[in-house]
Amino acid sequence: MLKLESMSIRYEDKSVVRDFSFEVLPGEVVSIIGPNGSGKSTILKGITGLIPCESGQVFIGEEELRSLSIRDVSRLLSMLSQANSSPTDMTVEELVTFGRMPHKKWYKQLNDEDYRIMEWALQLTGMDRYRERLVYSLSGGEAQKAWLAMALAQCPKILLLDEPTTYLDIAHQLDVLELVKTLNRELQLTVVMVLHDLNHASMYSDKVCVVKQGNVRAYGSPQEVLTRELIREVYGVETDIEIKNNSNPRIHVLHKI
Ligand code: ADP
Ligand code: MG
Repeated sequence: MLKLESMSIRYEDKSVVRDFSFEVLPGEVVSIIGPNGSGKSTILKGITGLIPCESGQVFIGEEELRSLSIRDVSRLLSMLSQANSSPTDMTVEELVTFGRMPHKKWYKQLNDEDYRIMEWALQLTGMDRYRERLVYSLSGGEAQKAWLAMALAQCPKILLLDEPTTYLDIAHQLDVLELVKTLNRELQLTVVMVLHDLNHASMYSDKVCVVKQGNVRAYGSPQEVLTRELIREVYGVETDIEIKNNSNPRIHVLHKI
């Protein structure tokens, strides 16, 4: 569904992503974790073509990113970045309208099909009752769901999320992640998300990709990847790892080394 082959990205003279390869299968949820500045956001931007790759290839389905137009890409994937910003006077419904734009010629009005899809996205995210609300008046958790509704209205095959739970309290973090998991299950939506919380990555992912200095340090199931040794090496932190009844690991952070 998504394949990166030796992707490298640099900002001017600084190489940020180096020879990065990984593959995400259809319907998987993959979390990307790694220290601040390790290149996680840059990798997502490279996948969307927002930042050009210096070398390597990105395949979305069978198609190579370079052979696709921006419109083609936005019909295949939606990305929500770390800090979403919208004009303050926009309602939730208006925001969701933007999800339909990649599917329309600029001079075409929204049609019944567009309204049907927008309605579906609003219902699925539980945002239908907030449709008239201005986006800036929503709480952090509600705003994140409004953005997810917009992303869904795009009818993407792949959803890319950059730290979707930042600034949310613990309950709302779980709320958003549960919604993402539901969308993954019900729509077979492939999800690649950058997460900070190792326990969230463990709970909500089929696979975890650990990024260290712009490269894949480890990639596999949470059980395979989230070990004391790896967390010590990548984050410089000592942990206790608890695995109950073969479930995904729970990480207890002890102290810095
Ligand atoms: P992460 O998301 O893992 O925290 P980023 O991908 O945002 O990391 O950044 C990786 C590195 O690239 C950092 O050292 C950051 O300072 C640098 N960087 C990010 N964006 C830019 C930019 N627009 N111009 C120059 N350097 C950048
Ligand atoms: Mg980032």
